[in-house]
Amino acid sequence: MLDLFDFIREIPDYPKPGILFRDITPMLANPDALAQAANAMAEPFLGKKIDIVAAAEARGFIFAAPIAMALGAGFVPIRKPGKLPFDLHSFAYELEYGTDELQIHVDGVKPGQRVLLVDDLLATGGTIEACCRLLEKCDAQIVGCSFLIHLAQLGGEDRLNPYTCHSVLTYD
Ligand code: IMP
Repeated sequence: MLDLFDFIREIPDYPKPGILFRDITPMLANPDALAQAANAMAEPFLGKKIDIVAAAEARGFIFAAPIAMALGAGFVPIRKPGKLPFDLHSFAYELEYGTDELQIHVDGVKPGQRVLLVDDLLATGGTIEACCRLLEKCDAQIVGCSFLIHLAQLGGEDRLNPYTCHSVLTYD
């Protein structure tokens, strides 16, 4: 087993002064670390009858496809405005570095389908909370949320209440 913390590069003052950015690209470039990370994100949800893995662009997509395949589930993208071609649900939200909006196809998730949300990193929780609101508009059943990294001091987990939150690497 690899220590995945060894593959996370810390970049001070990026993208602006005072932010310590966790760069996952060294981990993505290592085949064993990448496989271990995706498996660890999927593992608590094996046998939970997940129909759909949903994720927001862009880094969430990287993990969503292998996790969907590990769980025998499909993948549904959540994207920034102007990217999805069909009828949409939209939700505007605040994030660590500004504001943004996310969208999902109205028929991306069918009512009652069991959904796992994934993202590379949980910071303030704004992004994943927006994803939850979009899935609620689809009448999805959110089984849980899985992250590679959780920045615990930013309180994002509180915003996910009542949903189950799993993370592989926690920074206190
Ligand atoms: P939140 O919405 O504040 O929870 O921020 C989480 C989102 O911002 C995720 O989609 C991440 O990809 C991105 N993000 C925030 N901080 C970092 C970081 O330090 N490294 C990598 N991505 C980050």
